Amino acid sequence: MKTKGLMTDIILSELEDVVGYENVSTKTSERLVYGVDYFWISRMWADRGLTPPRADYIVRPGSTEEVAAILKIANYYRIPVQVWGGGSGSQGGAIPVAGGILMDMKRMNRLIELDEESMTITCETGMIHQQLEWHANEKGYSLMHYPSCLTCCTVGGALAHRGAGILSTKYGKIDDMCVSMEVVLPNGDIINTLPVPRHAAGPDLTQIFIGSEGTLGVMTKATFKIFEMPEVRKFRAFLFKDMSTGLAACRDIMQKLKPSIMRLYDEAETVSIIKKVIGIDKKGAFMNLAYEGPAEVVKIEERIILDICAKYEAEDLGSEWGEKWYKNRITFFYPDHIMDLPQMFGTMDTAATYANLEKVYWAMKHAVEDNFPDVRFIAHCSHWYEWGAMIYDRFIMDNPPDDPEEAIRLHNRIWNAGVRAALANGGVINHHHGVGLKLSRLMKEQYGPAMQVFEALKKGLDPHGIMNPYKLGL
Ligand SMILES: Cc1cc2nc3c(=O)[nH]c(=O)nc-3n(C[C@H](O)[C@H](O)[C@H](O)COP(=O)(O)OP(=O)(O)OC[C@H]3O[C@@H](n4cnc5c(N)ncnc54)[C@H](O)[C@@H]3O)c2cc1C
Repeated sequence: MKTKGLMTDIILSELEDVVGYENVSTKTSERLVYGVDYFWISRMWADRGLTPPRADYIVRPGSTEEVAAILKIANYYRIPVQVWGGGSGSQGGAIPVAGGILMDMKRMNRLIELDEESMTITCETGMIHQQLEWHANEKGYSLMHYPSCLTCCTVGGALAHRGAGILSTKYGKIDDMCVSMEVVLPNGDIINTLPVPRHAAGPDLTQIFIGSEGTLGVMTKATFKIFEMPEVRKFRAFLFKDMSTGLAACRDIMQKLKPSIMRLYDEAETVSIIKKVIGIDKKGAFMNLAYEGPAEVVKIEERIILDICAKYEAEDLGSEWGEKWYKNRITFFYPDHIMDLPQMFGTMDTAATYANLEKVYWAMKHAVEDNFPDVRFIAHCSHWYEWGAMIYDRFIMDNPPDDPEEAIRLHNRIWNAGVRAALANGGVINHHHGVGLKLSRLMKEQYGPAMQVFEALKKGLDPHGIMNPYKLGL
């Protein structure tokens, strides 16, 4: 048997004592697998034959108490802890860059309760989101959280990155859907946030942990709202002469109604991705909509939407293209519709108020296209609010440098240019993919002196800095 060093073996035996021999691994092959998530840099690194960052121990807890015991061991020995859900995050948030313990949460996948009276569902956070949705569906309900990563992300990962699904315009982001949770703090204490609809008992603890990306503790259970399936869900597509007109029409719709889906593609994405995936060959800004609820309400909503779109001289493409979009909503992520290696790419999702939205869009487009002539920029807006919206903008480069160091440098320069253009014009560094390793350096630019609030939380809860080092700017 290979000797790994006295302390390594002592810690290993303590971890085995908590979760069982079969739920700890130090195998090189497993440690390699957990070194790559959906972050472009981690994938490029592995693709070029370089060794990804490796945790020392892969640990699979089966209960909240086991998570607590692991954190106590980590605290005692001052070992970094990295929580891993589905590994589908695009920000490098789950990569164990500091080594130590990687805690894979997927054994914690039990349904705890479906409360039909309060209309809530509670589960362990290692459950894959699709499974939670199936549990709700069995009783005729839905969480209405349909991100494109539904089948590969865990409940904990979605909470940690403040995720958003395609119906978010009506039902909200995960931060609107989650009503309470159980968290294991870095010192191993187990706490629960308040399980009430709203309160005035100080700041909202649930919201402190949503978006904390494994830096303040481990979310172990969570409760979400559930909804009855709508009586009717209807689709419709429109074509605007350009993005600017489309944005004005969408704002008008949002300030009167709440469609469940409203996706407005800029001219570049309409003639590339939309044409390729759903087959419509038109120039302009394509928009697809869904509206849902009781049949009579939907009928009225449809009339108002048609009137607004007519006011902005949109071409009404009917329901067929809207339905086609919905059927293909995951196809957008299949090869060869999605960007993939060897291309260099990134999704810079941002959000801004309507007063700034178009400014942010143009500033980001110019920052990317003017400074990097070999890079394409495409965008759509897919998550809308009464007072603003999200821009899902992507950059794509077909022939990035072969040298990994040069590739990382260029990747970061493009990101810096795009995100700083957003920040300078009233945007935010991210809307629903999180910060992770990718945007960590930009958190201080976003928050300025307000960053000390996060730093104080981190210091107070995790004085030894064991939880997810180098992420979230902490
Ligand atoms: C094809 C594709 C489509 C996507 N579409 C969407 C989309 O529509 N909407 C969207 O929001 N995102 C989308 N994403 C991004 C990604 O899937 C999400 O960020 C997802 O929520 C990550 O979940 P995960 O379980 O894979 O987390 P991981 O990647 O494993 O981890 C992400 C972060 O969460 C932390 N974490 C995980 N579990 C816990 C826990 N229990 N407690 C504390 N911290 C934890 C990790 O430490 C890490 O910092 C997509 C990704 C892909 C690959």
